Amino acid sequence: MNRTRSEQLYKQALTHIVGGVNSPSRSFKAVGGGAPVFMKRGQGAYFWDEDDNRYIDYLAAYGPIILGHAHPHVTEAICRAALNGTLYGTPTELEIEFARLIKEAVPSLDKVRFVNSGTEAVMTTIRVARAYTGRSKIIKFAGCYHGHSDLVLVAAGSGPSTLGIPDSAGIPTTIAHEVITVPFNDIEALKAALERWGHETAAVMVEPIVGNFGMVMPKHGYLEELCRLTREYGALVIYDEVITAFRFHYGAAQTFAGLPLSGSLLDVEPDLTALGKIIGGGLPIGAYGGRKEVMEQVAPLGPAYQAGTMAGNPASISAGIACLQALAEPGTYAKLDKLAASLASGIGEAAARHGVPLTINRIGGAFSTHFCDHPVTNYEEAQDTDGEQFAAFFRLMLEQGICLAPSKYEAWFLTIAHTEQDIEKTVQAAELAFRQMKA
Ligand code: PMP
Repeated sequence: MNRTRSEQLYKQALTHIVGGVNSPSRSFKAVGGGAPVFMKRGQGAYFWDEDDNRYIDYLAAYGPIILGHAHPHVTEAICRAALNGTLYGTPTELEIEFARLIKEAVPSLDKVRFVNSGTEAVMTTIRVARAYTGRSKIIKFAGCYHGHSDLVLVAAGSGPSTLGIPDSAGIPTTIAHEVITVPFNDIEALKAALERWGHETAAVMVEPIVGNFGMVMPKHGYLEELCRLTREYGALVIYDEVITAFRFHYGAAQTFAGLPLSGSLLDVEPDLTALGKIIGGGLPIGAYGGRKEVMEQVAPLGPAYQAGTMAGNPASISAGIACLQALAEPGTYAKLDKLAASLASGIGEAAARHGVPLTINRIGGAFSTHFCDHPVTNYEEAQDTDGEQFAAFFRLMLEQGICLAPSKYEAWFLTIAHTEQDIEKTVQAAELAFRQMKA
């Protein structure tokens, strides 16, 4: 496949944009380096790059593009908003309509506030939890990504109940020491951390279904126990549903009864929830919300300050409303589930035929492919997978016009625009990729 223009553009990008990309996850560093593909157009399930190559897109912009690119209902809503002016700096009726829609789908949200990104949403839930509890420490889980604010870019210390170390330069150790990182799906590790730090802990922050080291389900009863223990210590539970909200059904993971678990997540409501991605219909957005008395900490009602010039802008809100309206159509999630099921099983069978060890974790219309022969239930197991095999697979798929995220930790996302033919083509491409990897 000729990608001359992408290569030329990458050279130009490197001279003007740091690292040539506006988000490090877009670089090909984790898959052997070189120029990332520069896309110029997206329509439905497809992308076209600057050299006019077509790709089937399973990146879906890291989650938001669940309707496919340029969905007509969303496009029309954005155009309508643009004609009326994209930013007022005043309240609008649209914001109320959108808040209502989100609250109906996620009933733990008594009150919401719109922001501009998942990062902002998460960052503010932490501030609100600290304001409400008067405590400063946060417990989070290894491998869960919560955006790039200081507190959540902290890795585990040397043991489950040691203080964190910064994951990025520029984060003072004093801030990292406010964070404790424990392994996901290990209730004993959380218990140990709470025994040691629980009375200083403002909140436990978790992706209820992990989307950032592949798709990883909570073990049966894990979230229930997590919520119970956290509350025993007077701390708040924060669910980061930036990926999970509206991904598996019309609602969030916390309202999802259809999990392949023996139990369900119902009745384990968090105190605060962070949202983003899908709810913006492809425009920048984030939102956070939760219990009334907790949310009333937020200015202008309470002492916890959070603001935003762009927050709740009519363009993002209109796109979000249109996206949720389209998702609410009957059959949407059944379609995503069916497409992902046939794709995941096709890829799994192809890998098995060629003797490539592959663990696939699938939940509804999202799944992850881990090059290993063991289950992946936590970050350590996700790390213990073959990155070189993933890189080879990624490149062989790209050459055949299949666009995946350039990291072994990222999920494949189905959109309602994908067709059975796309799935067939992708399975055939995977078959060829596995054959070449074994050759
Ligand atoms: N939380 C989770 C679970 C995420 O996956 C992400 C982004 N991948 C974020 C927060 C941050 O969102 P944003 O990139 O919109 O700031």
